[in-house]
Amino acid sequence: MTKKLKNWVNPEIPWKNKKNVPKIPPRILIDYATRCNLRCPMCVVWGSEDERKIDDVKGIMDVNKARDLLDIVMKTKPMIQPNLWGEPLLIPELEKVIFDLKSRNIPVVLNTNGLTLTSKICQLFISQKVDSIMFSVDATTAETLKKVRGIDKLEKIKKAVNLLLKERGDTILPRIGVSFTVQDTNKHEKDDFVKEWLGKVDVIRIGLMFDDSIGNYPEMVDMGKRKPCPALYSTLPIHNDGTARICCLDGFRKTNMGNVYKEGLDKVWNGEEFNKARYYHETGQWDKVPFCENCNGWAEFDYQEEVKDNHLIRFSPQYIYYNKIDKLETWTKETLGDHKEPKIKKNNIKKR
Ligand code: SF4
Ligand code: SF4
Repeated sequence: MTKKLKNWVNPEIPWKNKKNVPKIPPRILIDYATRCNLRCPMCVVWGSEDERKIDDVKGIMDVNKARDLLDIVMKTKPMIQPNLWGEPLLIPELEKVIFDLKSRNIPVVLNTNGLTLTSKICQLFISQKVDSIMFSVDATTAETLKKVRGIDKLEKIKKAVNLLLKERGDTILPRIGVSFTVQDTNKHEKDDFVKEWLGKVDVIRIGLMFDDSIGNYPEMVDMGKRKPCPALYSTLPIHNDGTARICCLDGFRKTNMGNVYKEGLDKVWNGEEFNKARYYHETGQWDKVPFCENCNGWAEFDYQEEVKDNHLIRFSPQYIYYNKIDKLETWTKETLGDHKEPKIKKNNIKKR
C-alpha cells in the first residue's frame, strides 16, 4: 500500500480487499472514434441536447497511441471493444485498427448501428476473424424506430444484418447478434422482435435503458442486496484522449480515473482512483462514489440461465440474451466478457 492509500482508507472501515484485481483488465473499451451518424434519444452522449457537452467529448483517438496500449496488453490479450460512445464503422482508419487488434490475436467485439456497413467491411470482419458484431436494431416497425433512434431506416439496418449473415455463410466468425433496448416507445414490440430474429442470428440481446439524468436503470427490478459492482474488476473504459472512466455509462467525463497515455494502462487500472472506487464499493460507502451512488447496474452481472427452443437463455435484472445453441461454440472464453461460461454445454443440451 502506498502512502496515498492511507489518506483515504478510513481506519474504522479497513479495506479487506476481498476481490482479486487482475493486473490487466480482462475487458477494455477503447473509444477510437467518438462520433456518430445518429442522435438516438436514448444515447448517453448523442441523445443530449447540449451541443457544448457533445463538442467537449467528441473526437478521434490517435491510432499510434492506441497501438502502444495494445502492446501493453499483448501478454494477457483481453477482449477489446473498439467503440464506446461512438459508431465503430465511422472509425477513420477502421481497417488499420482491426489489423492492429487482430494481428495481436486480441479478441474483438463491437456494437454498431450498421448503417454504413458495406460488403468490403463485412469481408474485413470475416477475414480478420472479428469475434462478435452486435447490431442495435431496437424496433420491428419503421414508425417505432423513428421514435427510438430518430430515423425510419429499419430496412437498411436489417439489410446490414442480413448482408453480414450472408457474407459470413458457413464461416464461423464473427458471431452475429441483434439488440433491443427497451423503452416506453418500443416496449410493445419487444416480443415481436424476439420472434422475428430467433433462429436467424446467433444471439439476441434485450436490455434496459440507462437514464443518465438519474444515474440508473429505472425499470430494473429484483436486484437483491447491493454489492460491489463487478465492472470495477473487469472493465476499463478509455476515452479518445486516453482518459479512463469509471464505467461505460460515463459518457460526459464526470469521472477521471487517470490517463493511460501518461500514467500507463496497468498503472491506471491498479491506481489510486480505481482502488478508491473499489474500496468504497466493498465497504458499502456508495455515497463516496457519486457516479455509482444511485446506480443499479451492478446487478447486470447476476445471470441465470435456462434452455428453450434451441436457445440458451441467459437473464439478469438488466439483460436477456437468447443464444442459439448451435452457435455456442463462437461464444468463447475470450468473448464472454462479464459472463460466466455457460453451465450447459452444447453436447448435453436437451431440446425442449
Ligand atoms: S447509434 Fe449508438 S452511439 Fe450512435 S447515437 Fe445511437 S446509441 Fe448513440
Ligand atoms: S455501479 Fe453502475 S455506474 Fe458504477 S461502475 Fe457499476 S454499472 Fe457503472
